[in-house]
Amino acid sequence: MKCAQVILDIQTQALDQAFTYRVPEHLTDPVGNPVELEVGASVLVPFGNRDAIGFVMAIDEGEEPSGRRLKPVKQVVSAPFFNQIGADCAQFMAARYIAPLSSCVRLFTPPGGVPKMKLIDGRWQVLSAVSHEVDDRWVVREPAAANFVPRKSAVKQIAVLEALEQGDLKVADLTAEYGNVSSTLKSLESKGVVRIEERRRYRGVGGESAVFAARVKPAHDLTPDQQHALDAIRESRAHTGGRAVVVDGVTGSGKTEVYLQAIAAELEQGRNAIVLVPEISLTPQTLARFRGRFGDTVAVLHSRMTAGERFDQWELIRTGVARVVVGARSALFAPLPNVGLIVIDEEHEGSYKQDQAPRYVTRDVAWWMVCRADASLVLGSATPSIEALALCEQDPRWVRVEMPNRANGQPLPPVRVVNMGGEFGRGNRSMFSKALQKALFEEMDAGHKAVLLLNQRGFAQFLLCRDCGFVPICDLCSTSLTYHERGHRIVCHHCGHEWRAPATCPKCGSPYLKRFGAGTQRVEDELRSLLSDRDVTIVRMDADTASKKGDHQRLLEEFAQADAGVLLGTQMIAKGLDFDEVTLVGVINADTMLKLPDFRAGERTFDLLSQVAGRCGRGALPGRVIVQTYSPDDVAIRAAATYDRKRFLDHELKLRQGLGYPPFVRLVNVLVWGRDKLEVEEQGRQLFQGLSEQIRAQGIRDWTVFPATPCVLDRLKGVWRYHLLVKVPNSSVASDPSEVLLPYFRARKPHQGVNVAVDVDPVSLL
Ligand code: ADP
Ligand code: ZN
Ligand code: ZN
Repeated sequence: MKCAQVILDIQTQALDQAFTYRVPEHLTDPVGNPVELEVGASVLVPFGNRDAIGFVMAIDEGEEPSGRRLKPVKQVVSAPFFNQIGADCAQFMAARYIAPLSSCVRLFTPPGGVPKMKLIDGRWQVLSAVSHEVDDRWVVREPAAANFVPRKSAVKQIAVLEALEQGDLKVADLTAEYGNVSSTLKSLESKGVVRIEERRRYRGVGGESAVFAARVKPAHDLTPDQQHALDAIRESRAHTGGRAVVVDGVTGSGKTEVYLQAIAAELEQGRNAIVLVPEISLTPQTLARFRGRFGDTVAVLHSRMTAGERFDQWELIRTGVARVVVGARSALFAPLPNVGLIVIDEEHEGSYKQDQAPRYVTRDVAWWMVCRADASLVLGSATPSIEALALCEQDPRWVRVEMPNRANGQPLPPVRVVNMGGEFGRGNRSMFSKALQKALFEEMDAGHKAVLLLNQRGFAQFLLCRDCGFVPICDLCSTSLTYHERGHRIVCHHCGHEWRAPATCPKCGSPYLKRFGAGTQRVEDELRSLLSDRDVTIVRMDADTASKKGDHQRLLEEFAQADAGVLLGTQMIAKGLDFDEVTLVGVINADTMLKLPDFRAGERTFDLLSQVAGRCGRGALPGRVIVQTYSPDDVAIRAAATYDRKRFLDHELKLRQGLGYPPFVRLVNVLVWGRDKLEVEEQGRQLFQGLSEQIRAQGIRDWTVFPATPCVLDRLKGVWRYHLLVKVPNSSVASDPSEVLLPYFRARKPHQGVNVAVDVDPVSLL
């Protein structure tokens, strides 16, 4: 008997397993047409005393369990959203990230594209999907038009036929041009001169930036570095079972060209490719480079698109029209068949971790996929993550290729570190050091461009001494203490210790121990007055100015078209920009990220400085970088300024080994939140006990479970947030946290008012 494993599309932990249903001989779709059942389709099944929608995870030959009749699948509600690899991947993710299976399956479905159940008048009914295909009505000229002569007085007929000589036209466009044309078209149609056709419209196609399309450079002769990287990727494709190539190339080394040529080779072999880029570097420029090479076979998926656009792009991928998918994190789950290559650009980026269930690590899921599909994973970065570098050391299937030189043959721009504490001491209260002011004047006078980074991570406040740069840190955890206005306290969010905030600097006695941070608006005002007697275009890009669809593109175009110009912005400008005319990069405040109470603060600072420095000197003009900081001797800043990754890693790895952080351990962060503080604390205690017992019961002695402590953002919108951390050393006999903890969380009864979420391999501990 044929059976189907079905996961119900109902999001509660208790239902989170596939149920077995009988597959009847004859199945139909909602309109009554006969259909075959396939993996990935959504189906209507009986569940309790109602019907529910679910997804088919597997179809197999099974036996009816004795004494119980299996219920049948009632109807096939949609065509398959994913195939067997997708179904297996969802299962893998649910287990690895201790997440509801239905949340993993949902990643593989287009937004708004899945039918839902709704209780209407006491009955559960199927609501069709919110996103639909839309059709346009097109007017097509028939051969008979050649011999047709309209009457002289039929002005609209003449105009319409003339317009159609250039090709088919949409009724809507004709109407916009000539007013109401319906009677004209009717009459032409009746004479057999034209016909009206319904055609599927694909939203999200077209509308590319003409400014950036014009700036796309043709394919280059590869540099030796590029050829070397491409060879490594080609070599990896000769193996089965999955390979990974870390393209460790400095900014401007021409990594994108390597991806483009590797993809072209893949397409020639009849296989397809996925390219993931961080949401913020999915700029019109990046898209123009891919569209410029692969034209209409490129589909794009990102969160700034409407549900309708994503639905249509998804359809182009599923039907095989699109063979290259360029998108943010979730494009990994696009229904692209026959994937040969998955590229993850800027692999080290924190946004590759999803921050809600399933809290997956894109790199690890992509690795699972290429292993399963006999494909290759290409990870590109100027600053590969410590995790990826560790994999290259440990796993023979992972290789690293270096691209140490820029494609333009120029050296990397020199970086000058300016000590803001000293500036303050000398009476310069401005946010711009003397050195940065001078450099700005020089570059603007020469008609060049500058990029200024204002490092902003909003909420995490810390104290900083304006005179000596001192920041209070926790001696036990070696992370910065967070400042809390309430009660004027400084708190460690790893171990929970807290102190009264000191009034003066404990190191130098200065009274200027103040909360740190300035808004982009204030910096913009100061910049404008600084450059007021020069003709300079100043473009500010941050969450406020680039919030609406199209803002991002418009601001970048404005900057591209300026003569002398400054682009001032937050992290969103640090990556993916490639302007030949940028000769100066300024970092207003390198400290903000450095002082985040997170063990990755140093790594993030090193990455960000290396990335943003890479925005200048990319063309024929040389570049220079000025980094303003209150911690000029910090290793992350020193090492970034000298492009000395080894120095940074030697220091950082020693620290991480000592304190027990990745890549030497794996972490599991358990988040607990709810409205009632006491209840949250109580659940935190129970979790601590439960987890400790679960681990002890498996005979594991070398894991560490920390009791629940308040998160950095301990109270958000009236909700109390706590977390517990589990450390799993690589050397442990039980080195897979998911395997050990999954049964505990599956069996745990959910609590009414308190939510619990598991974050395996967390990227942020805030
Ligand atoms: P990355 O992604 O490594 O930062 P890009 O791919 O953006 O670097 O390339 C940097 C610049 O070098 C771009 O302007 C690109 O057009 C140019 N470039 C790439 N490859 C070559 C080449 N082989 N010869 C000359 N210029 C190149
Ligand atoms: Zn001080
Ligand atoms: Zn601490």
